Amino acid sequence: MDPNCVLCDKEIETLEHLFFHCPFSEKILHNILRKVGIRNSGASLDETLNSISGYLAGKEAWKMAGKAAISLTIYILWKERNARIFRGKKNNVESVIREGNYRVAIMLSKINNLKLTARNVAWAEQTGISPSFLRKIGQQTIRYSLNQLATAGNTLSTIQDQEEPNPGQA
Ligand SMILES: [Zn+2]
Repeated sequence: MDPNCVLCDKEIETLEHLFFHCPFSEKILHNILRKVGIRNSGASLDETLNSISGYLAGKEAWKMAGKAAISLTIYILWKERNARIFRGKKNNVESVIREGNYRVAIMLSKINNLKLTARNVAWAEQTGISPSFLRKIGQQTIRYSLNQLATAGNTLSTIQDQEEPNPGQA
């Protein structure tokens, strides 16, 4: 079996390469993070993961979404890697990014409760989540929380349970 990483075909595949150094993985992670409102322009994959693991500590909506986005990225990379190895099926980086963006949109649409802080409102606007949530901001009786994003791990299993079509193959 070819020992090279099937995502970039540039280096020997190790878990460390796949999740910390692979240029393919880096593109996917940066795109998915951007969709949840986190920008890391120019940072390498391992720098990004190291820095965000620090500043994503906490329960604010955007931090929970950031953690969920990392889990989602790992899931998507692993899925693409296995599709290439075991099924000889190769989606290009644009197609994998499209799938990632689609899954992020599903994840964000599950937020039905969000605390009405200025930061959360700005974040919701930026990420385009739940227009109905934004319309209801004036009504202080509505309570928001993040039950679908309680943990990044829960989010991952929720996402895996979904059987939506892959937009990359449409
Ligand atoms: Zn690679």
